[in-house]
Amino acid sequence: MRLDLDWLQAAEVELAVLRLDQLDPLISGNKWYKLSSTVEDVLRQQAPGIISLGGVHSNHLHALAAAAQRFGFASVGLLRGHAQDTPTIRDLTQMGMQLHWLGYAGYRARHQPDFWLPWQASYPGFACVNEGGLGLAGARGCADFVKALQSQLSAIGWSGYDGWWLAAGTGTTAAGIVLAEHARVPVYVASAVPVTDGVAANIRLLLSQANACDSGYQILDASRGGFARMDALLMQFLQETEAACGLPLEPVYTAKALLELRGTVDKGYFPRGTRLVFVHTGGLQGRRAMLERWQGASHP
Ligand SMILES: *Cc1c(COP(=O)(O)O)cnc(C)c1O
Repeated sequence: MRLDLDWLQAAEVELAVLRLDQLDPLISGNKWYKLSSTVEDVLRQQAPGIISLGGVHSNHLHALAAAAQRFGFASVGLLRGHAQDTPTIRDLTQMGMQLHWLGYAGYRARHQPDFWLPWQASYPGFACVNEGGLGLAGARGCADFVKALQSQLSAIGWSGYDGWWLAAGTGTTAAGIVLAEHARVPVYVASAVPVTDGVAANIRLLLSQANACDSGYQILDASRGGFARMDALLMQFLQETEAACGLPLEPVYTAKALLELRGTVDKGYFPRGTRLVFVHTGGLQGRRAMLERWQGASHP
């Protein structure tokens, strides 16, 4: 899908959207690509299931629970904080995910080397997946959509493109594209978390684990002051973009990434005629709670 928005036209920058949000009604976005090799392993080895962790709006746990239900294995979700009711949590429960609330301190221990031991003891044979699907297996799974893009280009009359633009949380998806592209075109990584939070370190580590050069990408801070923080300009941009071209966005990742692109395009960063691919990484299930939270709060 080509996006025709006035700020793109003004700069004569062309943008195509790779709609990972339309992959499947339930197993959405980049999270499926990151989980796919673990799911394949579980099915092949007839392992009982997968354990992972996330927050109360987690797109990652949502995709995992949906995949587990679809393919018939068990899923266990370890949650940040204390028991809470959100639309995502209701979906997880309904899809049969077993939930455990770790509290905040308990959740902070997730990076400790022995974190998984008690869970592996409680759930023998389960595969353990990092928060957000962080890892080289997850990054490698993203090569599939890089390949899939090639076959979609001719449909919009493009023979190539000059770069990728996408939102990042852990940086796993971005690292996957960098690996698949072999630094042929730059990957612009619009971080939804303040850049100091580890996107750069994660990408560097994933590339080194794959024996690839630490190049072919550029990280931008698109967090607008904090992960999942919303502001009036962002929400207005989200609504205007949807109204102008029908592309549904959510405020945590995709709207922030696209707004960061607008800022960069408006500054004249890209020469006229530049063709970019924007990855719609999905996450629309999380939109319900975010829009409610925004509408429920008062804004000066
Ligand atoms: C998780 C997520 C991301 C971030 O992906 P990473 O591979 O962790 O960088 C981006 N967009 C959406 C919608 C997500 O759900």
